[in-house]
Amino acid sequence: MSSSQDLFIYVHIPVCTARCSYCDFYSTVSPMPVESANRYLSLALEEFRLLLAAEPQLRERRVKTVYFGGGTPSLAIAESFDLFLSGLRDEMDFADNPEITLETQPATCNSNKLSRLRAVGINRFSVGAQSFDPRHLAFVGRRHTVEQTRSLLRDINGLGDARLSIDLISGWPGQTVGEWGESLDEALSFRPEHLSVYELTFYEEARLKDRANPLPENTLIDIYRFTQRHLSAMGYENYEISNYAQPGCRSIHNENYWLLGDYVGLGAGAHSFLAPHRWANPDDVASWEYAIERGLLVRRLNDSQDPHVGLLENLQMALRLSDGVDLNQFSKRFGLDIRQIRQMQWNDLLNMGVIELVGEEGSVVRLTDDGRVRLDSIIEYLI
Ligand code: SF4
Repeated sequence: MSSSQDLFIYVHIPVCTARCSYCDFYSTVSPMPVESANRYLSLALEEFRLLLAAEPQLRERRVKTVYFGGGTPSLAIAESFDLFLSGLRDEMDFADNPEITLETQPATCNSNKLSRLRAVGINRFSVGAQSFDPRHLAFVGRRHTVEQTRSLLRDINGLGDARLSIDLISGWPGQTVGEWGESLDEALSFRPEHLSVYELTFYEEARLKDRANPLPENTLIDIYRFTQRHLSAMGYENYEISNYAQPGCRSIHNENYWLLGDYVGLGAGAHSFLAPHRWANPDDVASWEYAIERGLLVRRLNDSQDPHVGLLENLQMALRLSDGVDLNQFSKRFGLDIRQIRQMQWNDLLNMGVIELVGEEGSVVRLTDDGRVRLDSIIEYLI
């Protein structure tokens, strides 16, 4: 259970060894990626200290989660994570059993390094497997092999006391539901507590469209429904549109985003939410480094200018959770009631059967099965 006294920290390490062609996260390719990752971690700790000086009330909270994401944060060596986490412990109290996650790219971590990462406090590994078919990895330019993925997953299993989450991509060009099922089963053979499954994205700038056609929408929906059924039969809860967890194993850090809780983001391109304000660091490593080295924060306010749009952005985030959104609490918090400001569209969506009202007073809204594959269109309709 989280409380408003908890602190959720995201550390963005925007460096990769190469750009994957489907990716739209902010990251750079460095000629010395390991050194860069180590350096960004140490600057992120400096940034946190600057933030504490600007927001001293944060000291009253306890660190509940730390999430190292990227980019490829696992390029950094274990000693850099140790320095970061011990620096953080010098500044802050931690909650009991904090969740400390590292997004781990299989080529960056052998069993030796994995043990050292575990020893410095990382207790959850989110492995970017993406696919167990080497043709898929080559298609998007992933810089690891399927064998490296298997080896890392076996090593994490061998640790015995670390949680495992596996990231998979579905909807590869030409993929059938049967082929997808084989990939999913291979992931399940490593007994992950958590799985994230995202469809391959064909962003315009990713140029994937020049090389292959996206799967037809009905096949993508078949794959999505198969994933839900199969993982549910295996004991996983589809607690968020793209995320599945064994009981008690939801991602505490990511769930906080969907619950619209406060969080602090460190690093170039990272975002923060300290209610009522949203902040964003620039997508620019050079200016972020320049500022932090001189003792300056570079975050800028990132609040939506239109309160109605801001409300819908928050609703879009919160509706991702299968638990739904309590509209009475939501209206109280944001000072606007979606049922009133978009009355006609709201009723249309209810009549179309893409959202439903549940709970004792019918005040909790959640997506129906049809709505789950149409969240973006639902929000567009409300805007
Ligand atoms: S390694 Fe991850 S962050 Fe880097 S380009 Fe590939 S998908 Fe994007």
